[in-house]
Amino acid sequence: MTGRRSINQATTISSRLRSPLVSLIVPVYNEEAAIGLFMAQVNAMVRRSDTHFELVFVNDGSSDNTLSVIKAFPSSCPMRLVDLSRNFGKEAAMTAGLAMSKGDAAVPIDVDLQDPIEVIDQFIVEWKNGHDMVYGVRESRGCDTPMKRNTSVLFYYIFNKLSRDKIPENVGDFRLMDRKVIDAVLSLEEKNRFMKGMFSWVGFKTKAVPYHRAPRAAGNTSWNYWKLWNFALDGVIGFSSLPLRVWTYIGAFISLFSFLFIANIVFRKLVFGNPVDGWSSLMVTVLFFGGIQLISLGIIGEYLGRLFIESKNRPVYLVDTVEEFEAHAENVDEAEATEFSRRSCRETA
Ligand code: UDP
Ligand code: MG
Repeated sequence: MTGRRSINQATTISSRLRSPLVSLIVPVYNEEAAIGLFMAQVNAMVRRSDTHFELVFVNDGSSDNTLSVIKAFPSSCPMRLVDLSRNFGKEAAMTAGLAMSKGDAAVPIDVDLQDPIEVIDQFIVEWKNGHDMVYGVRESRGCDTPMKRNTSVLFYYIFNKLSRDKIPENVGDFRLMDRKVIDAVLSLEEKNRFMKGMFSWVGFKTKAVPYHRAPRAAGNTSWNYWKLWNFALDGVIGFSSLPLRVWTYIGAFISLFSFLFIANIVFRKLVFGNPVDGWSSLMVTVLFFGGIQLISLGIIGEYLGRLFIESKNRPVYLVDTVEEFEAHAENVDEAEATEFSRRSCRETA
């Protein structure tokens, strides 16, 4: 068994060294303004690298001209354009991209250039050194507000306290995954796809590469605090049952405490003949326990709701069309690319 595994391992690593194919997975949602700059940088990387690339764009139900801008744009490597039937969210779009990728490895990357393209070279070096998953660690988050940074620190702290599968701090989806990691992630059939957690759950040999996260090159983020809160909730609930189990202990503690309290009241009544405490203390107790019970019910509801969604077993995403584009020989520099993108936006508007 061990022998077979080491033969497989050896085969995989040698295929990495022989001109491998790396798929760039790019989920896009209303990104017409960012595509030109992104393509210019990808084209430059493809031209200078000895690795083969393919681009897998996943249009996540954009309502602007994203789709036609991508189609109009010349790419220096083969390109696949997966158009989903509506907006399913970034996690679903990324899953679609991974499923549609053909590479020996894949790199999910944001189109807004917040994940610097040149870091991919370092990912590939570490991959060729035998690491199956090479993830980028954000060294600086200067472009995020202090509020976003603090809530993010809090999230990682709570998640890693509650979940058995730890996720490294300041790590996003920007990473390189070997084919075996991609297949492992795709074999997880859950509908609630908290990718960061899934990437850490599958394991394999990992390596961190630090990088500086840039501000958005163009367009606006589609995240707000409400969406982030729900994303965090999906993560914690998808990867830990502790919030559910903790009520057993809270309940046991409160029961024990109330027995002692009852004994105390009976004792005081029998020995000292004290009257029962008044209305205020009764109300406080009723309200307090009413609140506690509603919180615990709400938490059960969060799990039950997700269980309900999982039990329907609907697909994570639906594909409308898939189009293939061959590599374009033309060299397009950054200025031309921006102008090209502007022109395509105007023409398709
Ligand atoms: N995205 C997507 N579907 C969505 C929201 C975002 O495919 O419903 C894509 C978006 O086009 C971008 C990437 O996910 O390429 C990251 O989004 P964004 O920059 O808004 O997130 P942030 O960097 O602010 O976390
Ligand atoms: Mg971004």
